[in-house]
Amino acid sequence: MTSEYRPLLPQADSELPTAQMVAPGCSAVALCVVTNFKILRRQFGLERWQSCMNALVDHLRDVVVPTSIVQIAPDCVELAVNSESVEILRERLESVGPTWVVHLPDSNLAASLNLVSAAAVATDDGDPLALVEQAESALADACRGGGTVVVSVKPDSQAFEEISLLRDLPVAVAQEEFFVLYQPKIHVRERRVSSAEALIRWLHPKHGLIMPDSFIGLADESGDILEIALWTLRRVIADQQILAAQDHPLRIFINISGRLLTDNGFIEAACELVRESGAQIGFEITETSVIHDPDQAIANLERCAAIGITLAIDDYGSGLSSLSYLKRLPASELKIDKQFVTQLTSSHRDPLIVRSTIDLAHALDMEVTAEGVETPAALALLTVMGCEMVQGYLISAPLRLEALTAYLEDYRFETLQADMAPTIIRPASFWKSA
Ligand code: C2E
Ligand code: CA
Ligand code: CA
Repeated sequence: MTSEYRPLLPQADSELPTAQMVAPGCSAVALCVVTNFKILRRQFGLERWQSCMNALVDHLRDVVVPTSIVQIAPDCVELAVNSESVEILRERLESVGPTWVVHLPDSNLAASLNLVSAAAVATDDGDPLALVEQAESALADACRGGGTVVVSVKPDSQAFEEISLLRDLPVAVAQEEFFVLYQPKIHVRERRVSSAEALIRWLHPKHGLIMPDSFIGLADESGDILEIALWTLRRVIADQQILAAQDHPLRIFINISGRLLTDNGFIEAACELVRESGAQIGFEITETSVIHDPDQAIANLERCAAIGITLAIDDYGSGLSSLSYLKRLPASELKIDKQFVTQLTSSHRDPLIVRSTIDLAHALDMEVTAEGVETPAALALLTVMGCEMVQGYLISAPLRLEALTAYLEDYRFETLQADMAPTIIRPASFWKSA
Protein backbone atom coordinates (compact mmCIF):
# COMPACT_ATOMS: atom_id res chain seq x y z
CA MET A 1 0.00 0.00 0.00
CA THR A 2 1.56 3.30 -1.00
CA SER A 3 -1.09 5.87 -0.16
CA GLU A 4 -0.12 8.86 1.99
CA TYR A 5 -1.95 9.37 5.29
CA ARG A 6 -4.02 12.49 4.79
CA PRO A 7 -7.18 12.11 6.89
CA LEU A 8 -9.79 14.72 6.05
CA LEU A 9 -10.50 16.83 9.08
CA PRO A 10 -14.08 17.08 10.33
CA GLN A 11 -15.94 20.25 9.43
CA ALA A 12 -16.09 22.93 12.12
CA ASP A 13 -19.82 22.33 12.64
CA SER A 14 -19.49 18.56 12.61
CA GLU A 15 -20.55 16.43 15.55
CA LEU A 16 -17.36 14.39 15.32
CA PRO A 17 -15.18 14.36 18.43
CA THR A 18 -11.53 15.38 18.14
CA ALA A 19 -8.17 13.92 19.09
CA GLN A 20 -7.95 15.97 22.28
CA MET A 21 -10.30 13.48 23.91
CA VAL A 22 -7.47 11.05 24.70
CA ALA A 23 -7.48 10.84 28.48
CA PRO A 24 -4.38 11.50 30.60
CA GLY A 25 -2.88 8.29 31.98
CA CYS A 26 -3.63 6.12 28.94
CA SER A 27 -0.75 3.87 27.91
CA ALA A 28 -1.17 3.66 24.17
CA VAL A 29 -2.83 5.49 21.35
CA ALA A 30 -3.68 3.82 18.09
CA LEU A 31 -4.91 5.26 14.83
CA CYS A 32 -6.69 3.27 12.19
CA VAL A 33 -7.21 4.84 8.78
CA VAL A 34 -9.19 3.65 5.76
CA THR A 35 -6.97 4.38 2.77
CA ASN A 36 -9.61 3.73 0.11
CA PHE A 37 -12.08 5.99 1.89
CA LYS A 38 -12.70 8.38 -1.01
CA ILE A 39 -13.61 5.71 -3.51
CA LEU A 40 -15.90 3.92 -1.02
CA ARG A 41 -17.65 7.16 -0.07
CA ARG A 42 -18.26 7.87 -3.73
CA GLN A 43 -19.45 4.31 -4.32
CA PHE A 44 -21.84 4.08 -1.37
CA GLY A 45 -22.70 7.71 -0.55
CA LEU A 46 -22.21 9.68 2.64
CA GLU A 47 -24.76 7.97 4.83
CA ARG A 48 -23.70 4.43 4.03
CA TRP A 49 -20.08 5.43 4.36
CA GLN A 50 -20.74 6.65 7.90
CA SER A 51 -22.40 3.36 8.75
CA CYS A 52 -19.22 1.56 7.57
CA MET A 53 -17.20 3.69 9.96
CA ASN A 54 -19.68 3.05 12.78
CA ALA A 55 -19.28 -0.68 12.15
CA LEU A 56 -15.47 -0.31 12.23
CA VAL A 57 -15.64 1.59 15.53
CA ASP A 58 -17.90 -1.13 17.02
CA HIS A 59 -15.57 -3.87 15.79
CA LEU A 60 -12.48 -2.21 17.24
CA ARG A 61 -14.29 -1.58 20.50
CA ASP A 62 -15.08 -5.28 20.76
CA VAL A 63 -11.63 -6.60 19.94
CA VAL A 64 -9.40 -4.04 21.68
CA VAL A 65 -11.61 -2.80 24.56
CA PRO A 66 -10.23 0.73 24.56
CA THR A 67 -10.72 3.34 27.27
CA SER A 68 -11.83 5.69 24.55
CA ILE A 69 -12.53 5.33 20.86
CA VAL A 70 -13.46 8.19 18.56
CA GLN A 71 -13.76 8.81 14.85
CA ILE A 72 -11.52 11.86 14.45
CA ALA A 73 -11.94 12.28 10.70
CA PRO A 74 -14.19 10.77 8.00
CA ASP A 75 -11.51 8.13 7.37
CA CYS A 76 -9.80 7.78 10.74
CA VAL A 77 -10.47 6.23 14.16
CA GLU A 78 -8.41 6.93 17.27
CA LEU A 79 -8.25 4.54 20.21
CA ALA A 80 -6.68 4.94 23.62
CA VAL A 81 -5.99 1.96 25.87
CA ASN A 82 -4.65 1.50 29.40
CA SER A 83 -1.63 -0.56 30.38
CA GLU A 84 -3.53 -3.89 30.77
CA SER A 85 -4.77 -3.71 27.19
CA VAL A 86 -1.51 -2.70 25.50
CA GLU A 87 -0.54 -6.24 24.54
CA ILE A 88 -4.04 -6.99 23.23
CA LEU A 89 -3.82 -3.82 21.17
CA ARG A 90 -0.50 -4.93 19.67
CA GLU A 91 -1.92 -8.31 18.66
CA ARG A 92 -5.31 -7.15 17.45
CA LEU A 93 -4.07 -4.29 15.32
CA GLU A 94 -2.28 -6.88 13.22
CA SER A 95 -5.32 -9.14 13.00
CA VAL A 96 -7.76 -6.38 11.98
CA GLY A 97 -6.07 -5.45 8.68
CA PRO A 98 -5.19 -4.99 5.95
CA THR A 99 -8.64 -5.52 4.44
CA TRP A 100 -11.78 -5.64 6.50
CA VAL A 101 -15.14 -6.40 4.96
CA VAL A 102 -18.29 -4.83 6.33
CA HIS A 103 -21.81 -5.76 5.26
CA LEU A 104 -23.92 -2.68 4.83
CA PRO A 105 -27.18 -2.69 6.77
CA ASP A 106 -30.49 -2.83 4.91
CA SER A 107 -28.82 -4.18 1.78
CA ASN A 108 -26.83 -7.13 0.57
CA LEU A 109 -23.87 -4.91 -0.30
CA ALA A 110 -20.44 -5.32 1.24
CA ALA A 111 -17.60 -2.79 1.41
CA SER A 112 -13.92 -3.77 1.58
CA LEU A 113 -12.07 -1.27 3.73
CA ASN A 114 -8.31 -1.06 3.21
CA LEU A 115 -6.93 -0.40 6.66
CA VAL A 116 -3.60 0.88 7.85
CA SER A 117 -3.02 1.19 11.56
CA ALA A 118 -0.33 2.42 13.87
CA ALA A 119 0.11 2.74 17.59
CA ALA A 120 2.36 4.56 20.01
CA VAL A 121 2.91 2.75 23.30
CA ALA A 122 4.27 4.57 26.34
CA THR A 123 6.92 2.76 28.35
CA ASP A 124 5.99 4.86 31.39
CA ASP A 125 3.15 7.22 32.32
CA GLY A 126 2.37 8.61 28.91
CA ASP A 127 1.79 12.23 28.01
CA PRO A 128 -1.34 11.87 25.84
CA LEU A 129 -0.16 14.57 23.44
CA ALA A 130 3.23 12.91 22.87
CA LEU A 131 1.44 9.62 22.27
CA VAL A 132 -0.96 11.16 19.75
CA GLU A 133 1.92 12.86 17.91
CA GLN A 134 3.97 9.66 17.81
CA ALA A 135 0.99 7.63 16.67
CA GLU A 136 0.43 10.16 13.85
CA SER A 137 4.01 9.91 12.70
CA ALA A 138 3.92 6.08 12.98
CA LEU A 139 0.76 6.11 10.87
CA ALA A 140 2.50 8.14 8.19
CA ASP A 141 5.26 5.46 8.20
CA ALA A 142 2.67 2.69 8.08
CA CYS A 143 0.98 4.32 5.07
CA ARG A 144 4.30 4.56 3.24
CA GLY A 145 5.39 1.01 4.06
CA GLY A 146 2.02 -0.74 4.34
CA GLY A 147 0.95 -2.84 7.31
CA THR A 148 0.97 -1.85 10.94
CA VAL A 149 3.60 0.15 12.80
CA VAL A 150 3.82 0.11 16.58
CA VAL A 151 6.32 2.44 18.24
CA SER A 152 7.42 2.74 21.86
CA VAL A 153 7.58 6.21 23.35
CA LYS A 154 9.98 6.67 26.25
CA PRO A 155 9.58 9.67 28.56
CA ASP A 156 13.04 10.88 27.46
CA SER A 157 12.22 10.55 23.76
CA GLN A 158 12.36 13.56 21.49
CA ALA A 159 8.59 13.94 21.40
CA PHE A 160 8.34 14.10 25.18
CA GLU A 161 11.29 16.46 25.37
CA GLU A 162 9.97 18.84 22.75
CA ILE A 163 6.54 19.02 24.31
CA SER A 164 7.94 19.64 27.78
CA LEU A 165 10.38 22.29 26.48
CA LEU A 166 7.59 23.96 24.56
CA ARG A 167 5.53 24.19 27.74
CA ASP A 168 8.50 25.53 29.72
CA LEU A 169 9.39 28.26 27.22
CA PRO A 170 6.98 30.99 28.43
CA VAL A 171 8.26 30.46 32.00
CA ALA A 172 11.87 30.62 30.78
CA VAL A 173 11.12 33.93 29.10
CA ALA A 174 9.41 35.33 32.20
CA GLN A 175 12.16 34.07 34.56
CA GLU A 176 14.99 35.02 32.18
CA GLU A 177 16.58 31.58 32.24
CA PHE A 178 18.79 32.44 29.25
CA PHE A 179 22.36 33.68 28.96
CA VAL A 180 24.48 34.82 26.07
CA LEU A 181 27.97 33.79 24.93
CA TYR A 182 30.07 35.83 22.52
CA GLN A 183 32.26 34.46 19.75
CA PRO A 184 34.82 36.94 18.37
CA LYS A 185 35.36 37.46 14.66
CA ILE A 186 38.80 38.47 13.40
CA HIS A 187 39.55 40.73 10.46
CA VAL A 188 42.42 38.83 8.86
CA ARG A 189 44.30 41.65 7.10
CA GLU A 190 43.72 44.23 9.83
CA ARG A 191 44.54 41.66 12.50
CA ARG A 192 41.91 43.01 14.87
CA VAL A 193 38.78 41.68 16.49
CA SER A 194 36.19 43.21 14.20
CA SER A 195 32.98 42.09 15.92
CA ALA A 196 31.42 39.29 17.96
CA GLU A 197 28.39 37.04 17.50
CA ALA A 198 25.93 36.61 20.37
CA LEU A 199 24.89 32.97 20.86
CA ILE A 200 22.08 32.21 23.28
CA ARG A 201 21.94 29.36 25.83
CA TRP A 202 19.06 28.21 28.07
CA LEU A 203 19.88 27.14 31.60
CA HIS A 204 16.85 25.00 32.37
CA PRO A 205 16.14 24.47 36.10
CA LYS A 206 15.60 20.72 35.57
CA HIS A 207 17.43 19.76 32.36
CA GLY A 208 20.47 22.02 32.75
CA LEU A 209 22.17 23.57 29.72
CA ILE A 210 20.10 23.51 26.53
CA MET A 211 21.71 24.51 23.22
CA PRO A 212 19.87 26.84 20.81
CA ASP A 213 19.36 24.19 18.14
CA SER A 214 17.07 22.38 20.62
CA PHE A 215 14.76 25.31 21.38
CA ILE A 216 15.00 28.15 18.84
CA GLY A 217 12.94 26.25 16.26
CA LEU A 218 10.27 25.48 18.88
CA ALA A 219 10.23 29.11 20.06
CA ASP A 220 9.91 30.20 16.45
CA GLU A 221 6.81 28.07 15.99
CA SER A 222 5.23 28.94 19.34
CA GLY A 223 5.84 32.68 18.96
CA ASP A 224 8.03 32.90 22.10
CA ILE A 225 10.90 33.89 19.81
CA LEU A 226 9.72 37.51 19.82
CA GLU A 227 10.32 37.96 23.56
CA ILE A 228 13.53 35.89 23.40
CA ALA A 229 14.92 38.10 20.61
CA LEU A 230 14.07 41.31 22.48
CA TRP A 231 15.57 39.90 25.69
CA THR A 232 18.76 39.00 23.78
CA LEU A 233 18.96 42.44 22.22
CA ARG A 234 18.60 44.14 25.62
CA ARG A 235 21.22 41.81 27.14
CA VAL A 236 23.63 42.47 24.26
CA ILE A 237 23.18 46.23 24.50
CA ALA A 238 23.91 46.13 28.26
CA ASP A 239 26.98 43.90 27.75
CA GLN A 240 28.24 46.13 24.96
CA GLN A 241 28.06 49.10 27.30
CA ILE A 242 30.15 47.17 29.85
CA LEU A 243 32.73 46.39 27.15
CA ALA A 244 32.81 50.01 25.93
CA ALA A 245 33.41 51.21 29.51
CA GLN A 246 36.46 48.92 29.56
CA ASP A 247 37.70 50.50 26.35
CA HIS A 248 36.55 47.64 24.11
CA PRO A 249 33.98 49.07 21.72
CA LEU A 250 32.75 46.15 19.65
CA ARG A 251 29.90 45.63 17.20
CA ILE A 252 27.82 42.64 18.27
CA PHE A 253 25.76 40.54 15.88
CA ILE A 254 22.52 38.84 16.92
CA ASN A 255 20.84 35.96 15.08
CA ILE A 256 17.37 36.96 13.96
CA SER A 257 14.85 34.22 13.18
CA GLY A 258 13.06 34.37 9.87
CA ARG A 259 9.57 35.11 10.95
CA LEU A 260 10.63 38.19 12.94
CA LEU A 261 11.74 39.91 9.75
CA THR A 262 8.13 40.39 8.71
CA ASP A 263 6.92 41.20 12.24
CA ASN A 264 6.55 44.97 12.18
CA GLY A 265 6.10 45.08 15.97
CA PHE A 266 9.46 43.37 16.50
CA ILE A 267 11.27 45.56 13.97
CA GLU A 268 9.76 48.69 15.56
CA ALA A 269 10.76 47.61 19.11
CA ALA A 270 14.26 46.46 18.05
CA CYS A 271 14.99 49.68 16.14
CA GLU A 272 13.78 51.72 19.12
CA LEU A 273 16.14 49.84 21.49
CA VAL A 274 19.09 50.33 19.12
CA ARG A 275 18.28 53.99 18.42
CA GLU A 276 17.85 55.05 22.03
CA SER A 277 21.02 53.23 23.21
CA GLY A 278 23.22 54.13 20.24
CA ALA A 279 24.42 50.50 20.28
CA GLN A 280 26.56 49.07 17.47
CA ILE A 281 24.42 46.11 16.49
CA GLY A 282 24.40 43.68 13.58
CA PHE A 283 21.67 41.25 12.57
CA GLU A 284 22.51 37.84 11.12
CA ILE A 285 19.73 36.66 8.86
CA THR A 286 19.42 33.76 6.46
CA GLU A 287 18.40 34.13 2.83
CA THR A 288 15.73 31.47 3.29
CA SER A 289 14.01 33.58 5.93
CA VAL A 290 13.33 36.31 3.37
CA ILE A 291 11.65 34.01 0.87
CA HIS A 292 8.13 33.87 2.47
CA ASP A 293 7.39 37.57 2.11
CA PRO A 294 10.41 39.16 0.43
CA ASP A 295 8.92 42.63 -0.05
CA GLN A 296 7.96 43.04 3.59
CA ALA A 297 11.19 41.48 4.90
CA ILE A 298 13.39 43.61 2.65
CA ALA A 299 11.47 46.79 3.56
CA ASN A 300 12.02 46.02 7.27
CA LEU A 301 15.70 45.23 6.72
CA GLU A 302 16.10 48.57 4.97
CA ARG A 303 14.60 50.27 8.03
CA CYS A 304 17.20 48.50 10.18
CA ALA A 305 20.07 49.38 7.84
CA ALA A 306 18.94 53.03 7.80
CA ILE A 307 19.52 53.34 11.56
CA GLY A 308 22.99 51.75 11.36
CA ILE A 309 22.26 48.07 12.02
CA THR A 310 24.76 46.07 9.96
CA LEU A 311 23.27 43.10 8.14
CA ALA A 312 25.05 39.82 7.55
CA ILE A 313 23.73 36.91 5.50
CA ASP A 314 24.21 33.82 7.66
CA ASP A 315 24.77 30.16 6.72
CA TYR A 316 25.31 31.06 3.06
CA GLY A 317 25.18 27.96 0.87
CA SER A 318 23.27 25.78 3.36
CA GLY A 319 19.73 26.60 2.24
CA LEU A 320 18.02 27.94 -0.80
CA SER A 321 20.17 30.55 -2.46
CA SER A 322 18.67 32.98 -4.88
CA LEU A 323 20.73 35.60 -6.62
CA SER A 324 17.72 37.87 -6.99
CA TYR A 325 17.24 38.10 -3.19
CA LEU A 326 20.96 38.31 -2.57
CA LYS A 327 21.14 41.36 -4.80
CA ARG A 328 18.18 43.07 -3.12
CA LEU A 329 19.21 42.54 0.51
CA PRO A 330 20.86 45.60 2.08
CA ALA A 331 23.59 43.38 3.59
CA SER A 332 27.26 44.28 3.86
CA GLU A 333 28.55 40.90 4.99
CA LEU A 334 28.15 37.33 3.82
CA LYS A 335 28.95 34.41 6.12
CA ILE A 336 29.94 31.19 4.41
CA ASP A 337 28.32 28.24 6.18
CA LYS A 338 30.67 26.22 8.35
CA GLN A 339 29.91 22.97 6.49
CA PHE A 340 32.05 24.26 3.57
CA VAL A 341 34.78 25.64 5.82
CA THR A 342 35.37 22.69 8.14
CA GLN A 343 36.01 20.43 5.10
CA LEU A 344 37.96 23.08 3.19
CA THR A 345 41.33 21.40 3.17
CA SER A 346 40.08 17.82 2.87
CA SER A 347 37.48 18.13 0.12
CA HIS A 348 37.90 18.76 -3.60
CA ARG A 349 34.66 20.64 -4.17
CA ASP A 350 34.47 22.88 -1.10
CA PRO A 351 37.49 25.09 -1.97
CA LEU A 352 35.85 25.80 -5.35
CA ILE A 353 32.52 26.66 -3.72
CA VAL A 354 34.20 28.88 -1.13
CA ARG A 355 36.35 30.61 -3.73
CA SER A 356 33.43 31.39 -6.02
CA THR A 357 31.28 32.54 -3.08
CA ILE A 358 34.00 34.98 -2.03
CA ASP A 359 34.18 36.35 -5.59
CA LEU A 360 30.39 36.63 -5.77
CA ALA A 361 30.20 38.51 -2.45
CA HIS A 362 32.93 40.90 -3.54
CA ALA A 363 31.11 41.54 -6.82
CA LEU A 364 28.06 42.48 -4.72
CA ASP A 365 30.17 44.78 -2.51
CA MET A 366 30.03 42.56 0.54
CA GLU A 367 32.77 41.44 2.90
CA VAL A 368 33.05 37.74 3.62
CA THR A 369 33.23 35.88 6.94
CA ALA A 370 34.14 32.22 7.03
CA GLU A 371 32.59 30.49 10.04
CA GLY A 372 33.80 27.19 11.49
CA VAL A 373 37.50 27.94 11.01
CA GLU A 374 39.12 25.16 13.01
CA THR A 375 42.64 24.72 11.59
CA PRO A 376 45.62 26.91 10.62
CA ALA A 377 45.49 25.30 7.16
CA ALA A 378 41.91 26.51 6.61
CA LEU A 379 42.85 29.99 7.85
CA ALA A 380 45.80 30.13 5.45
CA LEU A 381 43.71 29.03 2.47
CA LEU A 382 40.90 31.49 3.27
CA THR A 383 43.42 34.32 3.56
CA VAL A 384 44.83 33.52 0.12
CA MET A 385 41.30 33.38 -1.29
CA GLY A 386 40.64 36.94 -0.10
CA CYS A 387 38.24 36.17 2.75
CA GLU A 388 38.14 39.22 5.05
CA MET A 389 36.96 37.79 8.36
CA VAL A 390 37.19 34.48 10.18
CA GLN A 391 35.30 32.92 13.09
CA GLY A 392 35.68 29.50 14.66
CA TYR A 393 37.29 27.39 17.36
CA LEU A 394 40.77 28.19 16.03
CA ILE A 395 40.24 31.83 16.93
CA SER A 396 38.01 31.37 19.96
CA ALA A 397 35.09 29.32 21.23
CA PRO A 398 31.97 31.29 22.27
CA LEU A 399 32.84 33.01 25.57
CA ARG A 400 31.11 34.44 28.64
CA LEU A 401 31.35 38.23 28.81
CA GLU A 402 34.16 38.13 31.41
CA ALA A 403 36.16 35.70 29.27
CA LEU A 404 35.56 37.88 26.21
CA THR A 405 36.94 40.89 28.09
CA ALA A 406 40.03 38.86 29.03
CA TYR A 407 40.37 37.72 25.42
CA LEU A 408 40.19 41.30 24.16
CA GLU A 409 42.76 42.47 26.75
CA ASP A 410 45.05 39.64 25.87
CA TYR A 411 44.60 40.15 22.17
CA ARG A 412 45.28 43.87 22.35
CA PHE A 413 48.38 43.29 24.43
CA GLU A 414 49.74 40.71 22.01
CA THR A 415 49.03 42.70 18.84
CA LEU A 416 51.02 45.57 20.35
CA GLN A 417 54.11 43.39 20.11
CA ALA A 418 54.87 44.28 16.51
CA ASP A 419 57.46 41.61 15.96
CA MET A 420 55.38 38.77 17.34
CA ALA A 421 53.81 36.29 15.01
CA PRO A 422 50.03 36.71 14.70
CA THR A 423 48.81 35.33 17.98
CA ILE A 424 45.19 34.83 17.17
CA ILE A 425 46.02 31.24 16.47
CA ARG A 426 45.50 28.76 19.25
CA PRO A 427 45.17 25.03 18.80
CA ALA A 428 41.61 23.94 18.10
CA SER A 429 41.96 21.36 20.89
CA PHE A 430 42.52 24.22 23.37
CA TRP A 431 39.20 25.85 22.54
CA LYS A 432 37.30 22.61 22.22
CA SER A 433 38.43 21.60 25.71
CA ALA A 434 37.61 25.11 26.98
P1 C2E B 1 25.01 29.84 13.75
O1 C2E B 1 24.45 31.20 13.63
O2 C2E B 1 25.52 29.19 12.50
O3 C2E B 1 26.11 29.93 14.87
C1 C2E B 1 27.33 29.32 14.80
C2 C2E B 1 27.32 28.00 15.52
O4 C2E B 1 28.54 27.31 15.22
C3 C2E B 1 27.31 28.15 17.03
O5 C2E B 1 26.60 27.06 17.57
C4 C2E B 1 28.79 28.05 17.39
O6 C2E B 1 29.02 27.65 18.71
C5 C2E B 1 29.26 27.00 16.41
N1 C2E B 1 30.67 27.12 16.11
C6 C2E B 1 31.49 28.18 16.33
N2 C2E B 1 32.73 27.95 15.89
C7 C2E B 1 32.73 26.70 15.36
C8 C2E B 1 33.75 25.89 14.74
O7 C2E B 1 34.90 26.26 14.57
N3 C2E B 1 33.36 24.66 14.31
C9 C2E B 1 32.09 24.22 14.45
N4 C2E B 1 31.80 22.98 14.00
N5 C2E B 1 31.09 24.96 15.04
C10 C2E B 1 31.43 26.19 15.48
P2 C2E B 1 25.46 27.29 18.64
O8 C2E B 1 25.89 28.33 19.62
O9 C2E B 1 25.07 25.95 19.14
O10 C2E B 1 24.28 27.91 17.81
C11 C2E B 1 23.59 27.12 16.89
C12 C2E B 1 22.61 27.96 16.12
O11 C2E B 1 21.56 28.47 16.95
C13 C2E B 1 23.26 29.22 15.53
O12 C2E B 1 23.92 28.84 14.37
C14 C2E B 1 22.03 30.09 15.29
O13 C2E B 1 21.40 29.76 14.08
C15 C2E B 1 21.11 29.70 16.44
N6 C2E B 1 21.17 30.71 17.48
C16 C2E B 1 22.09 30.89 18.45
N7 C2E B 1 21.76 31.96 19.22
C17 C2E B 1 20.61 32.47 18.72
C18 C2E B 1 19.76 33.56 19.08
O14 C2E B 1 20.01 34.33 19.99
N8 C2E B 1 18.63 33.74 18.32
C19 C2E B 1 18.33 32.95 17.26
N9 C2E B 1 17.24 33.19 16.58
N10 C2E B 1 19.10 31.92 16.90
C20 C2E B 1 20.22 31.67 17.63
CA1 CA C 1 24.86 33.14 13.06
CA1 CA D 1 26.05 30.48 10.76
